[in-house]
Amino acid sequence: MQASFERTSWFPIMLRLEGARVLVVGGGNVAANKVQLLVPTGALVEILSPTLSPELERLVGAGKAQATRQDATVENLTARLPGCRMVYLATSNSQLNATLSALCQSMNIPVCAVDAPDVSSFITPAMTTRGAVQIAVSTGGAAPVLARRLRAKIEEIMPAGLHLLAAFMQHSRLALRKQVPDSAIRRRVWERFLDGVGGSLAMAGDSQAAQQELDRILREGHAKTGEVWLVGAGPGNPDLLTLAALRLMQDADSVLYDNLVGPDVLNYVRRDAERVFVGKQTNNHTLPQGGINAELIRRAKAGERVLRLKGGDPFIFGRGGEEIEALVDADVPFRVIPGISAANGCAAYAGIPLTHRDCAQACLFITGHARADGTLNLAWETIALKSQTIVIYMGLTLVNQLCARLIEHGLPADWPAAIVERGTLPNQRVLRGTLSTLPQLIADNRITSPALVIVGEVVKHRVVSAPT
Ligand code: SAH
Repeated sequence: MQASFERTSWFPIMLRLEGARVLVVGGGNVAANKVQLLVPTGALVEILSPTLSPELERLVGAGKAQATRQDATVENLTARLPGCRMVYLATSNSQLNATLSALCQSMNIPVCAVDAPDVSSFITPAMTTRGAVQIAVSTGGAAPVLARRLRAKIEEIMPAGLHLLAAFMQHSRLALRKQVPDSAIRRRVWERFLDGVGGSLAMAGDSQAAQQELDRILREGHAKTGEVWLVGAGPGNPDLLTLAALRLMQDADSVLYDNLVGPDVLNYVRRDAERVFVGKQTNNHTLPQGGINAELIRRAKAGERVLRLKGGDPFIFGRGGEEIEALVDADVPFRVIPGISAANGCAAYAGIPLTHRDCAQACLFITGHARADGTLNLAWETIALKSQTIVIYMGLTLVNQLCARLIEHGLPADWPAAIVERGTLPNQRVLRGTLSTLPQLIADNRITSPALVIVGEVVKHRVVSAPT
């Protein structure tokens, strides 16, 4: 499994510190950094240290902080703690920091011992600030240098005028709330404003033109019309999401997703969107197709923007066609966004070129899903050809039958065949064999779904240095 959803021991919040007493214990550069971080919040910063660095002297001299020039002892700290909102411990003595931290915690005062998350009750993330916009990066104290590197990257992509945009939106918010009481509609108005020229006008500081743009959007009307977005989520690795998918995932009111859409991809869906699992597994339909169609229609008619998120591409063995037919019949507007299908994703990440010009003139995507009577009814004469690559979706259960039929219809028993399990994901496995050995290989290695079978000479062209 991937580690991205592990339990986390820190919970991020934003604290209002205006007028609150905050104590910084220590008089060196580390303490000075914390004081500098605190001053803009309007906190009443007090420093406890017998000596102060030149920078701290400057801050105290400028009235930004107060200093109590005493040793950082338990007694001296105890005297200053009552009424404190929080404490930073930045002495160079880690044993002392730990002792003082225990004292603060015994009095229920949040405390951060710098660079010692194990004895702290809170930690301070690396921050990027543009006016009201703040982005915090934390590694839970595990790797502060990594957090700072990430912050530097975020700094690069945060436009300089972002604070102006935030200020404009804050200014217009109350008026807009009166004009448009429905919060879902307000969200759409703001989205249209940001997606259009509004955002850049406000960031350029032209708040008058930005206001005109906002008024124009309001005049245009903003009925809460629902629609369905049928979006391909790719084979599982979030790197393979399209920009269009990402944007719609951020705008959706609700998301109906399959079992092929893993937690790593769902992580990119707007936090507040309602999540509905409608996964399908062979013989275990959580919600039958008719029920899914009805649910999409019901939600869209109620004004929701419904994200129908599907593994791979919605139109490749994804029943996307049936869903949009139902939407057309019900007069529900929809959009379809393609995704990278399992064949493309698995082939690329396994390093198998699906149509190598030396050996494959065509590539066939077929389904290995059994009919109700348990058999496969495929046009074997056109499938079992040496000149083409055969990619088999849902082929795991009937792989014995599949390989046997292909041999029966003319492919050699030692014809190359491969299986890609959990393609594109970090724990992807690729096994290569032949039509006669593949079923046993699959059984021996306990290959599980999702897995894709690839048959053809291209399997021999596997490139070893493929990205995995
Ligand atoms: N619409 C999807 C396919 C849905 S059918 C697409 O375009 O990819 C489900 C089948 O797709 C699975 O049984 C498996 O054969 C294949 N599949 C989907 N994701 C896969 C993955 N990450 N690795 C291997 N096979 C996958």
